[in-house]
Amino acid sequence: MVKNEIYEIEIVDMGNDGEGIGHVSDRQNGKSFAVFVKDTVIGDKARIRIVKVKKTYAYGRLEELICPSAERTTPVCDKARSCGGCSLMHMSYEKQLEYKYNKVKSCLERIGCVTDTDKIMEPPHGMETPYFYRNKMQLPVGRNKDGNIVIGFYAGHTHSVINLERCYIGHPVNEYIIKHLRSWLEDIDADGGFSVKAKAGVQDIVYNEETHTGLVRHILTRVGFATGELMVCLVINGECLPDKYKASFIEAMQAAAREYNHEASASIRLASMSVNINKEKTNKILGNKCITIYGKDCIEDYIGSNLFRISPLSFYQVNPVQTKAIYDKAIEYADLKGNEVVWDMYCGIGTISLSLAKKAKKVYGVEIIPEAINDARENAKINNINNAEFFCGKAEVVVPEFYKQNLSRPDVVVVDPPRKGCDITLLETIISMSPDRIVYVSCDPATLARDIKILSENGYSPIKVSVFDAFCQSTHVETVCKLARKTKDYVDV
Ligand code: SAH
Repeated sequence: MVKNEIYEIEIVDMGNDGEGIGHVSDRQNGKSFAVFVKDTVIGDKARIRIVKVKKTYAYGRLEELICPSAERTTPVCDKARSCGGCSLMHMSYEKQLEYKYNKVKSCLERIGCVTDTDKIMEPPHGMETPYFYRNKMQLPVGRNKDGNIVIGFYAGHTHSVINLERCYIGHPVNEYIIKHLRSWLEDIDADGGFSVKAKAGVQDIVYNEETHTGLVRHILTRVGFATGELMVCLVINGECLPDKYKASFIEAMQAAAREYNHEASASIRLASMSVNINKEKTNKILGNKCITIYGKDCIEDYIGSNLFRISPLSFYQVNPVQTKAIYDKAIEYADLKGNEVVWDMYCGIGTISLSLAKKAKKVYGVEIIPEAINDARENAKINNINNAEFFCGKAEVVVPEFYKQNLSRPDVVVVDPPRKGCDITLLETIISMSPDRIVYVSCDPATLARDIKILSENGYSPIKVSVFDAFCQSTHVETVCKLARKTKDYVDV
């Protein structure tokens, strides 16, 4: 099998990143190859071009659909194929849910060695309207090869920015923000002309990744869906936004909110604007420092009846509708009666901790980002919750130290780690603390399954699993799992 060969294949399976998988036999030696083809779904018959060959598998590019699968749908976004964000948009929503459910199931079985998935997994929780659900957007700013300003997304596996007018999974106000940001940048360009300024050695208003010069790198927006508060944060490669640009930038964003409100009969309020300083040559989007340039330092939003303040640097779940459902499930699995001591590891701004606090005796939260811990403490205050205590630091350092000094046994432990899953030292500490129940909230089923295996080998069984589609149209999936301590007379076979 060689690059550029054309084959006809039928897609029979889906890979972890949403690619279709088919099988072909090598024309030279008859050997069977699995071929991964982006933009295809199970049931497609397609003509594909081989683009990369490995020992036992290959990657292909969709050239032509010979017979489209019944699982297909036409993406609402015409950028769906080039943008890396919505890699399942060409699949019917029902099939997307099935795909995510099976992804979790297969990880639990293959990696987690869980044998009773059919018994413990609940049906997947999808969304009624799987569009315009995200409260957060991060858009890169750049120039195309003609020197024109582009705002949008990185084309798959590259760092060239492609223009986007509207994103079908972001809050609709973003369309207006993009439009006004673009004209603000173009006005600065027109003022003397970019090429003239470049010749005069004046820094470009737009950042260039290759040369690590220029000012504006990204725009980050967040909307409190329940409060209507809008946060705009401009990520810059510099110490500050020069005064001559600051006023016009604030005006541009105000105009965006105004225009959106007028056209959509909405009432979004521009509540907080900041610049984030990121002078590093890195593909990390945010730097560590934010300076407020307008309004408050943070925005507020409700999840259920609790009010949360959210700083630009703090983590906050992106899908408010599903977040509520996920936290409700975590509360159900925690099964609190009111007397329990609970640890919430990787607590962010305390969203889960404070939801649990109302039903527990005491909740401890631990989180690595200082701004998030400040938010968590403030959030406890504004919600009149005084049985929650927060620690800032790495969970795998803070929790073992606390346990060494106190030796107090929590009744329930909740973990909600980033994609890489729980640190092994933390898992070992949880095992020695021996809580009755562990509630594992996960955004990566592979690391969830890996950690479940460790916990299963050390006295815990997964007894309930719920799959939530919090990232509709993408391949990502959120899972909540309840693990219970095996009873004394349990014999592991
Ligand atoms: N439970 C929260 C946050 C979950 S996201 C919510 O639902 O909103 C994971 C969080 O873990 C992030 O806030 C991140 O900053 C934090 N984090 C990452 N590594 C960590 C570590 N080693 N120890 C503690 N917190 C960590």
